[in-house]
Amino acid sequence: MSDIGIECTVCDSVFYVRESLKGGLTNCPKCNELLQVPGQANEDLLFWIFVGAVGLVFFAIVGVFVLFTVLN
Ligand SMILES: [Zn+2]
Repeated sequence: MSDIGIECTVCDSVFYVRESLKGGLTNCPKCNELLQVPGQANEDLLFWIFVGAVGLVFFAIVGVFVLFTVLN
């Protein structure tokens, strides 16, 4: 992961934030101004969280089904 360079719109100081903050908000370390981090939110991460959640539900249903099959 690389860092994103941000130039403060108030005090013109340049600083770097983690790429995971992309599309979010951060405070200027110098003047504490709340700034928008350029770029879109990490949609890839949201996608994999979604895939993980669907997979978890799928295996839970399969697990319950197998359990009932074994018990009967
Ligand atoms: Zn600033």
